[in-house]
Amino acid sequence: MLRTEPESECRAVTDPFDKCRLPEAGVLASAGLYPYYLPVEGRPGGGEVVVGGRRVLMAGSNDYLALADDPRLKEAGAEALHRLGSGNSGSRVLNGTLALHETLEGELAAFLGHEAAMVVTTGYQANLALSALFGPRDVLFADRRIHASLIDSARLGQATLRRYRHNDMTQLAGMLEAADPQAGAIVLTEGMFSVGGDLCDLPGIAKLAARHGARVVLDSAHDAGLLGAGGRGAAEHHGLQSAVDVQTVTFSKCFGTLGGAVAGPHHVVQYLRHSARSALFSASLPPACTAAALAALDIIRTEPERRRAVMSAAERLRAGLVALGFTRAAGGTPTVSLRVGDRLTACRFWAGLLEEGVLANVMLPPAVPEGEALIRLSVTAAHTNGQVDRVLAAVAAVAGRLGLLEDA
Ligand code: PMP
Repeated sequence: MLRTEPESECRAVTDPFDKCRLPEAGVLASAGLYPYYLPVEGRPGGGEVVVGGRRVLMAGSNDYLALADDPRLKEAGAEALHRLGSGNSGSRVLNGTLALHETLEGELAAFLGHEAAMVVTTGYQANLALSALFGPRDVLFADRRIHASLIDSARLGQATLRRYRHNDMTQLAGMLEAADPQAGAIVLTEGMFSVGGDLCDLPGIAKLAARHGARVVLDSAHDAGLLGAGGRGAAEHHGLQSAVDVQTVTFSKCFGTLGGAVAGPHHVVQYLRHSARSALFSASLPPACTAAALAALDIIRTEPERRRAVMSAAERLRAGLVALGFTRAAGGTPTVSLRVGDRLTACRFWAGLLEEGVLANVMLPPAVPEGEALIRLSVTAAHTNGQVDRVLAAVAAVAGRLGLLEDA
């Protein structure tokens, strides 16, 4: 029989839902400055989207090669959707593996130069899958700026996590030097950093890893498809593909669709297939996305002009920002972040750009360290010179109004 408590004893002292009230979001929304969850109503193409009934220039997308709207991806996706259905209703390990997944895995592994690959449902899940590699006797040496998905993976894993300052090889060397030689060492980094758009110091990491017998795990979410002569990513760009032991990729950026993969030695991928919880306990990548990713891979292999187009837009954007005084704008990739500092000013910057017809991203703490709120801009292969110039004109107007150009 259920025991009935006096009412006062039943009532929780603290409401666990108190944390769900977000006064800052309300304040920002009422000032017209809330920058998140803005619904896109249409994608007319040519680097533009419709929001609030208005066509604006998309300057915050990761579709660097402009493939999300490519007719070949859409046709491949539609064909697979009609032939195989809208979902797989199960995980890879049980009923959810498609022949298409296996084809994609084979082609991806060959493309990236690894023995094997495992396709999962998102890039986030690919990174989470790595947690199975982070055992209790291992030490993980991670760049301070790695993506949240890699941090979550480290939390889910059992290894000790040590973080070195962004791209600081001296600190990484010291940490590796001081590490217990009996422990397994893994260096974890992004190839191209998602927010700053800068590259990891892979030559430095490769040298230290070789000296200390550490494994190198690289998240190529932003650089696979984009960097290197063949589009194989940051490792190819540095001529260091053989220095990377395990690599993760996402299909939500250069591949223009959804999905992710882990690539590496055959025995490691086989092990992950049987122990990575994010793959074992979640439904597999739907047919349409799998077929679209295969079509994208084909385009990535055969159309290097797309990489040239986005890099040329990126260089125009960077040079224009430097001319405006944003001298810290990193070079060489389609993503640039403008350090603003204070979160309210960053939201005003974002809202001002939108008023000027440019949709950018705003990054606030905890996505970035406190006091380092920023605007993230990115260009794609679809952006014309005229469109890049429109972004620059909008940045100049809004940053000028906010008094940011003096200390850019
Ligand atoms: N890694 C990095 C560096 C990312 O930026 C992202 C997505 N923003 C992911 C992984 C996760 O990819 P997905 O969106 O496919 O889950």
